Amino acid sequence: MIEVRDLHRHFGGFRAVDGASLRIETGSITGLVGPNGAGKTTLFNVIAGALPPTSGQVIMDGEDITGLPPHELFHKGLLRTFQIAHEFSSMTCRENLMMVPGGQSGESIWNAWIGRSRIAREEAELLKKADDVLDFLTISHLKDERAGNLSGGQKKLLELGRTMMVDAKIVFLDEVGAGVNRTLLNTIGDAILRLNRERGYTFCMIEHDMEFIGRLCDPVIVMAEGHVLAEGTIDEIKANEQVIEAYLGT
Ligand code: ADP
Repeated sequence: MIEVRDLHRHFGGFRAVDGASLRIETGSITGLVGPNGAGKTTLFNVIAGALPPTSGQVIMDGEDITGLPPHELFHKGLLRTFQIAHEFSSMTCRENLMMVPGGQSGESIWNAWIGRSRIAREEAELLKKADDVLDFLTISHLKDERAGNLSGGQKKLLELGRTMMVDAKIVFLDEVGAGVNRTLLNTIGDAILRLNRERGYTFCMIEHDMEFIGRLCDPVIVMAEGHVLAEGTIDEIKANEQVIEAYLGT
C-alpha cells in the first residue's frame, strides 16, 4: 500500500531520516520500532505530509504522494492520529466525532437553500455514525463526557474513533500505548485488531511496548540512525544481533 523509497529528511547538517526504504503491505499492522532518535517520528511526519522530505519518494497504491499536504492525504484515506486539540477538550466525545467529516451541507451558506430537511437528515446520519463508533470502541457511556475529562487511554480510543468517521485506508499511530494502563491498552489493542480484521484498515504504528507490538504487529520494522536496520516478526527482531546492538548503543 505504501512504499517509501530512499527517503531523506535533514535538519541542517543532521540526517534525521537517512535513506529509509520500506513497504507497508495492505492489510498489515506494521510496527515501527527503534531507539530514541532513530528517525521514526520524522519519517511519520514526512509520510503524513507534515514535513517535506529532503529527497526520496512516498508511493501509495502506485501513486506518488510525496509532499502532499495532510488534507489531500486525508481524502486518499491516509490518516494520522493526533492528540485531541485544546479547543476540542470542552466538546463532548460525540461532538468530537461529529466534527470530523467535512463537507456536510449545513456548512455551506449556499446549501442552506437546499433545505433544512437534508441538513437534518445528514446530522441524524452523523449522529448515528458517531454513536456506532463509540459503541465499537466500547465507550458509549462516555458519549456526553467532555473530551478534556477523559483519561489518557480513553483519549487514545477517541482519537482512533475519529479515523472511523471517515473512510480511512491506512492509519499511522504514534505511540498510541504510551502512558496507558494495561486494561485500556488491551481495549485499544482489541479496537486496532478489529478495525484491521473487520474493516480492512491497514496500520503503521510507532510503539515502544514490546508486548503490545508482539500482540498486534506483523511485520515489525526496526529503524536506527535514520534508516531501516531490520524487518521481521517480533521474535526475529528480538533475536537479531544488529537490533540488540542498536538498542544497547543508546
Ligand atoms: P524517534 O521518533 O525515532 O525518536 P525523531 O524522528 O523524533 O526520532 O528524531 C530523530 C532525530 O532528529 C533526533 O535526533 C531529533 O533531535 C532530530 N530532529 C527531529 N526533528 C527535528 C527538528 N525539527 N529540527 C532539528 N532536529 C530534529
